[in-house]
Amino acid sequence: SGEGILRRQAARESAARTYARSLPIVPVRARGMTVEGADGRRYLDCLSGAGSLALGHNHPVALEAIRSVLDSGAPLHVLDLATPVKDAFTTALFETLPPALADRAKVQFCGPAGTDAVEAALKLTRAATGRHGLLAFSGAYHGMTDGAHAASGGTPARPPAAVPGVTRLPYPYDYRCPFGVGGRQAAELSARLTANLLDDPAGGVEPPAAMLVEPVQGEGGVVPAPDEWLRRMREITAARGIPLVADEVQTGVGRTGAFWGTDHSGVVPDVMVMSKAIGGSLPLAVIVYRDDLDVWEPGAHAGTFRGNQLAMAAGTATLRYVTANRLAERAGAVGAVMLTRLRSLAAHHSCVGDVRGRGLMIGVELVDAEAERDEYGALPAAPGLAAAVRAEALRRGLIVELGGRHGAVVRLLPPLTITDEQAEAVLDRLADAIDAAER
Ligand code: PMP
Repeated sequence: SGEGILRRQAARESAARTYARSLPIVPVRARGMTVEGADGRRYLDCLSGAGSLALGHNHPVALEAIRSVLDSGAPLHVLDLATPVKDAFTTALFETLPPALADRAKVQFCGPAGTDAVEAALKLTRAATGRHGLLAFSGAYHGMTDGAHAASGGTPARPPAAVPGVTRLPYPYDYRCPFGVGGRQAAELSARLTANLLDDPAGGVEPPAAMLVEPVQGEGGVVPAPDEWLRRMREITAARGIPLVADEVQTGVGRTGAFWGTDHSGVVPDVMVMSKAIGGSLPLAVIVYRDDLDVWEPGAHAGTFRGNQLAMAAGTATLRYVTANRLAERAGAVGAVMLTRLRSLAAHHSCVGDVRGRGLMIGVELVDAEAERDEYGALPAAPGLAAAVRAEALRRGLIVELGGRHGAVVRLLPPLTITDEQAEAVLDRLADAIDAAER
């Protein structure tokens, strides 16, 4: 029974942080945005495999692609040999790249997880520059392996690792702005600070091998980088020969309203880190980078499970479907409607401190409305209230996840295929959940 499964897993699995661990449901069936539990209850899923299900659960085109590989008798395990399946995936992937990169792109299959691709990006840029240091950002999340973890900011549950050579700069986060000002001014101040750190010989920053940035911070609380800021980071790194690595693990494949999160700004990174949705719901991770960074000799990077044929087939189908059906535009449009409605909800709920996002990557930051505002005008985060909202949402048939520095941001990552009716239902249930949690 579902109860028995929950009890046994609670007893056997480590309590280490895992997505959705504490949701008391046992999913047994899923289609699109709907997940059905062992108890027969149905939920609208706004977690989407931590943003990896661009087309929702078990989309027919992904299933069909997987079935066709299974039925063809093709080998499922080929290490990193060339296959027609891999050829089709690489072709489809390169068609999505910004033209300036596509013309000179190299791909390295990393797999299976996003964190593996982050490690590869760090290793490649270190090899290419002969330097070790890394510029990363507060609130960042890049994964759980040592290098990716070191590049990440932290949360109370996951303290940042103190690693020599990693410099964490403030990410422009307007609501709790580390610069004390919002918008363009923050972007400009941040850019000046960064340039000064790099140029001041007494600045204490080791010349870095790379700057690693998320176009929209996801786990860090859904914080979109202003386009202008990203362009300034591009200028600063380009002028100093520092590779700019964009972690597109969560922002990729249409989620933010453009195919890649950096597309909005016109910034072309030197390295793009990709995982999650590129595998069409199966594990796949790659880095794509400009050919002049390709300093690796044979044997410099390896891994047994980099050739997941099923993931490549599902990924090819997903990339093609997102493009053919203009799902990035669709994500931008539905996301904008959802943000507008959430902002009007915020106007009537003092516990909603901030609503932000881009496309279908949306965050609602819950705050303690009774407390005093800080010097920037922000109220203290309310993680307990956020947890109550999550629980009330689940009671109303809505799965959401929390994130953010304080665990007080309700994150919505619905599939790009979400219908207008489903979007309405998500917002109705969330509004009810906030009402109930507030009481
Ligand atoms: N980078 C980003 C931006 C992510 O959001 C995540 C996962 N949430 C990762 C890297 C790590 O990916 P994985 O969990 O597959 O290792």
